[in-house]
Formats: sequence, C-alpha cells, structure tokens
Amino acid sequence: MSIIVMKFGGTSLADINCIRNVANKVQAQYLKNKKIVVVVSAMAGTTDNLVKLTENMSSSRDLKEYDVVVSSGEQVSAGLLAMTLNDLGVKARSWMGWQIPIFTDSIHYKANIDRIETENLISSLCQHEVAIIPGFQGVSEENRITTLGRGGSDISAVAIAAALNANSCDIYTDVDGIYTADPRMVPKAQKLEKVSYEEMLEMASQGAKVLQTRSVALAMKYKLKVNVLSSFENKTGTLVLDEEEIMEKKNVSGIAFSLDEAKLTVVGIPDKPGQASKLFKALGAKAINVDMIVQSSSVDSNATDLSFTIAKTELKESIKIMGAIQKDIGFKKVLTDSDVAKISVIGIGMKTQSGVAQKMFDTLAEKSINLKVISTSEIKISVLIDASYLELATRSLHSAFDLDKELNI
Ligand code: ASP
Ligand code: MG
Repeated sequence: MSIIVMKFGGTSLADINCIRNVANKVQAQYLKNKKIVVVVSAMAGTTDNLVKLTENMSSSRDLKEYDVVVSSGEQVSAGLLAMTLNDLGVKARSWMGWQIPIFTDSIHYKANIDRIETENLISSLCQHEVAIIPGFQGVSEENRITTLGRGGSDISAVAIAAALNANSCDIYTDVDGIYTADPRMVPKAQKLEKVSYEEMLEMASQGAKVLQTRSVALAMKYKLKVNVLSSFENKTGTLVLDEEEIMEKKNVSGIAFSLDEAKLTVVGIPDKPGQASKLFKALGAKAINVDMIVQSSSVDSNATDLSFTIAKTELKESIKIMGAIQKDIGFKKVLTDSDVAKISVIGIGMKTQSGVAQKMFDTLAEKSINLKVISTSEIKISVLIDASYLELATRSLHSAFDLDKELNI
C-alpha cells in the first residue's frame, strides 16, 4: 500500500483561508487516488498563547497538565481541516494521539515516541478516508497526554511516515526549501535540490530552523526521504536523503548561524587532572548542554583558562553553578560574553577534502573578524565571533565557498 504523509506547519494553517488552501492541496492528492495521512501543527501563535496561559495560571509547572493544555492547539487544526475536507467531498477524519495510539515515554513536555500502532489508521486508509493527525502529541503508557517538545510536529510526521512505511514525508512550510544560508540575511542564497541527513542535522542543530533536529535524526535512522516544500507556492522543494544518493558531494553546502549562545571563560584554573571533568559534570547535573570548548595551555604558569559556549537562556544558571564550584576547583574568576554569534560551514565533502578550515579562516581574517572559539566535526566547522560581524561574515563566507546564486542582469 503506497501511503503519502503530508505535514503542514502553523503558518500554513494560520487562518480559515490558509486551512482551505491546505484542504485544496490534500484534495488534489486524494483525486489522484492516494492514501493520505495529514499531520497538522497548531494554528500559528496558538501554542505560544497556550504556553503563556499555563504560566499565568500556575507557577507549579505541573507538566502533565501543561501537556493537556498545549496539545490542544493541534486538536483544533485537525478538526477544522477534517470538516473542511468533508465539505469538499473528501472523506476525512481526525485521530488524536491517544486514539491511534502514538505511545511515548512519560517525559512530559518533551516526550519521545516509543511506538505507533498503525492498525486503526490502516483500516481507515483502506476505506479511502484521509487520516488527519495532530502533530506534537502522544499518550504515555500511564494513559496521560504527552507532547514531544516545541516544533515536535515534524517528529510526529516523520515517525508516522516511518511506521506506515511511506515512501517519503512531505513537510509543507512557509519557505520553499532548504537554502545555502538564510535568504533574509544572504540575498544570494540558493535553494538546495538535495541535502544529506547529516548535513541537515548539522544545519538544524546549528540554527537553521526549518526542520526540528530530532525529526531529522529520526528520518536518518529509518532512511526516510523528507521533502521540504512550500504550502503557498507550487514549486519543487528540497529533498533530505541519504548521502549515497547525492552524486556531487560539496565541500560546503550551507552556512548556518545562531545568536542563541553565550560564552563563558573560566580564568585561572589550577593545571591538574580532573578539573574539566568536575566543571562539566556540575553543568551536566543541571542538564546544561555545552557546545564549543577551548582550553588554553599553560606554558609558564600553572593555570589554564577554559572557554565554552552554552545557550543564552542558561547563562544565569551556569554562572550560579560556577560560583558553587569555584572553591573546589580553585579558579580565579568567570568572564561572560553574550554578544556573540556562531557561524558554521557545513558540507559532507569535507570528509574527504581538505582546505575548508583554511579558507574559512582566511576569509574572516581578510575582513578583520576575530575568532573567539573554534570547533569542528567531520562535516562542520564552527566559529564564534562578535555578533555585530554576523552579516558580513555570513555573506563573505557564502561568496568564498561559491554558494552565491548567479544574478540575472
Ligand atoms: N505547535 C507546536 C509548537 O509550536 C508543535 C509544532 O508546531 O511543531 O511548538
Ligand atoms: Mg515547525
């Protein structure tokens, strides 16, 4: 049975006209005799409002009831879309997470999907009924509603497509694909026809916000092709797929950036074994993720400095933690810098070709941009720079790595 999974994000369902537009898109596939599952997000802005409501109502952070409230946005869009389709003569029905069911663990507010029972869905699809599923929500083994974390509808869509053995998962959104850089920052950015899971994973985790990171990891695990395309224009989008299916592996396929990180420098750490371990253990105990790390070597003194980056939202907490372990580690002081931007160049070609780092550093040096921290992986090089240079750095790197689109003059 060939099934297609279509996922629509919040901006694609923002109001009644948008929902009609989505219904027309679904109808077009239905008329081609396709078996269709639609995964929907909440209407734009709804989840934010629901989160605010819970915060204003209670300070106790009752995450079980939080999930009951915030999952409701998706329920509304699912019902509205199903009734619109029925009006158009397209047989459709909504399925809540617990009705399917989509079983998750009990980590409320950022649950993980354990398994999806497909029997009910398949029998509905066999009756040529479109199944409309609210993204973001599941049910725990304790029979409580759970949510998958912000942006989680992408995870729902990919998980459902994998469970149903669909050929691909089509993610309809407000942009028409994945670009070599954010087109709002780099006007010469080009749409990528294909991008590998690994590259997409790096792009998503380095700040490109089109796909939720966990959904990309899931697609990679099941080798499920993900097609990112626009809900508003009829254009081909970007295919996210296995690297084997990309003939020409570029050194650099894209440039991502993030303004969401801050840098901490711990000055004067007595140079002896076990210090970094102590420091990062203390952060880890509070679930604070560290991204980039550099340690200066102690040449003539017996102390080193350690710099690392964390999410800006966790800066305050991190400073507190450092304060608590200062005596034990014996460092002098902590410096912070939150006016920073992280820029990453990403490409699977880097695995086999050298010279990318050199070119990146030369390009930034030419513009007199200072590098505060550097980190690398097999397919990515990231640098931390002063936030005010973000645009200049991104555009310069985009040109240097031949990503600029030809302008038709
Ligand atoms: N509505 C949820 C959110 O805004 C889930 C999603 O749209 O993916 O985070
Ligand atoms: Mg989204």
